[in-house]
Amino acid sequence: MKPPRKLHIKSYGCQMNVYDAQRMVDTLAGEGFIETKSVDDADLVILNTCHIREKASEKVYSELGRLRVAKHDAARAGRDMRIAVAGCVAQAEGEEIIRRAPAVDVVVGPQSYHHLPELLKRAGTHGRAIETEFPAEDKFTFLPQPRREAIRARGISAFVTVQEGCDKFCTFCVVPYTRGAEVSRPVARIIEDVKQLADNGVREITLIGQNVNAYHGEGPDGSTWPLGKLLHRLAEIRGIVRLRYSTSHPRDVDDSLIEAHRDLPALMPLVHLPVQSGSDRILSAMNRKHTVAEYRKAIDRFRAVRQDIAFSSDFIVGFPGEREEDFLATLALVTQIGYAAAYSFKYSPRPGTPAAEMQETVSAADMDERLVRLQELIDRQQSAFNVAAIGTTVDVLFERAARNVGQIVGRTAYLQPAHVMASSDIIGEVRPVRIDSLERYSLLGELVSPAPAIRPALSETNIGA
Ligand code: SF4
Repeated sequence: MKPPRKLHIKSYGCQMNVYDAQRMVDTLAGEGFIETKSVDDADLVILNTCHIREKASEKVYSELGRLRVAKHDAARAGRDMRIAVAGCVAQAEGEEIIRRAPAVDVVVGPQSYHHLPELLKRAGTHGRAIETEFPAEDKFTFLPQPRREAIRARGISAFVTVQEGCDKFCTFCVVPYTRGAEVSRPVARIIEDVKQLADNGVREITLIGQNVNAYHGEGPDGSTWPLGKLLHRLAEIRGIVRLRYSTSHPRDVDDSLIEAHRDLPALMPLVHLPVQSGSDRILSAMNRKHTVAEYRKAIDRFRAVRQDIAFSSDFIVGFPGEREEDFLATLALVTQIGYAAAYSFKYSPRPGTPAAEMQETVSAADMDERLVRLQELIDRQQSAFNVAAIGTTVDVLFERAARNVGQIVGRTAYLQPAHVMASSDIIGEVRPVRIDSLERYSLLGELVSPAPAIRPALSETNIGA
């Protein structure tokens, strides 16, 4: 029997890339590859790149420079190491990677991972292979189901891609160019994936997509299902105790999603709803296709059906043309909404996007100063949100043993890490925890009851469909 070949994947960026990396591992498992944590003993190294990072392409080329040395060392030791570049930089740069990085064997765009085995074979016979087209077929139809052992090793929480691509064309963003137009997976395939995950111990599913709430997949009845209807159906799958979704666009908050939050206890009351700026003038320059008032209205709709709902968001400071009054409007919006968490970044241009051509740039000093002010405000809100948990009893889904011996760590409904002293038997269960204290961003507490609040049955996942 041939010994397994070793695969090392270095993944950057969003949850979608984490999920894609897992699907590449699943695809290549069928070709006899097993994962290794080390580049040095790998037969195949895949850089799963992200174009959102600042100077993304240049960082990929310097990483490829390091890999060229590793490949050279492997060859001297008599091993044939292959290098593949995947993800959004692969899509955006394509042939340029082949031209500038002779050590690279395969370049594959995010829509073509299912062709990886064939591309590796092609590279073996023809030297190098590239595929960055948007293929007519849906890659998900061709990707193999993850193996049982792989699901179990990945833990009790899993991502499932339900939608890819974006038609919004925000002026700062490369996603519509690198991931293509919005495409939704059919409901039946998603149900199949979730049942298989539940059957193998997964308890929490996060549905992911660049514009996840623009989901419009074909239902089993032939009609188009919105995200809310899909969530209703997934909540019926035995074993799944928590549902989440990310990332949403304010314009796509529809009745079905609001109803899902109203009706489904399994749908967690934390919504990531990026707004980017609190100024209508800047939102318009960003081509966000919504106003501040519309964003607030979307927030109010969630709050009207679930009083315990909390929000996180994304912000860009220093977008071209942003004046002090625009930034103050952002601070005012943050103050008004009150976030449980938020991510904030200084604007940096992405080549090929309309914003990269905008002339009225904000000085580095102004950007730095605004980012500090915004982050201080967000940090205060996040701390207040976490402190408010002290003294309360919250449900925690336990995930794994913590670094401190004897401690088990899980997540609250709001994704706060929570630690308790307990046996590892509680992993995979939702248990009420009395929160005693807060250590930075982690809650510390005690199990309230020795009996499980929810102990979902394993392996019987078939309800209805
Ligand atoms: S909505 Fe805007 S920021 Fe989000 S993926 Fe689409 S273009 Fe990018």
